Amino acid sequence: DVVLDLHGIEKTYNLGLPSQVEVLRGLDLRVAAGEVVALVAPSGAGKSTLLHIAGLLDAADAGTVSIAGRQMSGLSDRARTEARRRDVGFVYQFHHLLPEFSAAENIVLPQLANGVGRKAAEDRAAELLDMVGIAPRAGHRPAALSGGEQQRVAFCRALANRPKLLLADEPTGNLDPETSDRVFATLLSLVRETGLAALIATHNLDLARRMDRIVRLEAGGII
Ligand code: ADP
Ligand code: ADP
Repeated sequence: DVVLDLHGIEKTYNLGLPSQVEVLRGLDLRVAAGEVVALVAPSGAGKSTLLHIAGLLDAADAGTVSIAGRQMSGLSDRARTEARRRDVGFVYQFHHLLPEFSAAENIVLPQLANGVGRKAAEDRAAELLDMVGIAPRAGHRPAALSGGEQQRVAFCRALANRPKLLLADEPTGNLDPETSDRVFATLLSLVRETGLAALIATHNLDLARRMDRIVRLEAGGII
């Protein structure tokens, strides 16, 4: 049951001829439902470019992107944005939570934007906060939470709309090693419980080894 299917992806940045950066050169990658894949890449190898293309934030020059069996490459910008909101959850190194809203509201808002009713959205937020072990913090604003708690809220927000694919870029990279370990374990169990496909970029090989599979991005392709 393939959720993310990248085939023959090519991406070049044109900084004005003759200065070109060929970042991805015919890259192929598949991630199945329930599979957690670690993406390991030297800095500058194209990790962010790959995640942006997989998450429909950026378009490839060539190749195809399918999510949950749906070919995304030919879609209009608007249809692609809708598909992104429905099917993809993102987690970044920094939480990017809205500072003036509570933890729960940060998880409710993307659901309201997606047409979910307030009551159902609040129930879902409570359920997710419970799953990551910080239900008592629901009413706190991000600034009142620890770094690890903030990142747990960011995971909940990413999963609020029940995406099929989770993309994460160094999701615990901003935390001290001990907190990183615990928060990562929370992310793994959350992913496992929801059964979604996850592609998680990390420099931390100990974390990578706890995933189902490690892929390495090098010379524009997956090794
Ligand atoms: P990583 O996330 O692995 O560090 P990136 O995908 O951010 O790598 O970048 C890969 C290469 O593409 C780098 O050489 C980077 O400088 C270049 N690059 C990334 N984004 C752009 C851009 N918008 N315009 C030009 N070059 C870019
Ligand atoms: P991160 O990998 O932390 O998410 P970015 O994707 O913003 O960071 O950038 C990764 C690399 O790509 C950096 O080396 C950055 O300098 C380079 N880069 C990003 N955007 C551009 C751009 N518009 N032009 C040139 N290089 C870029």
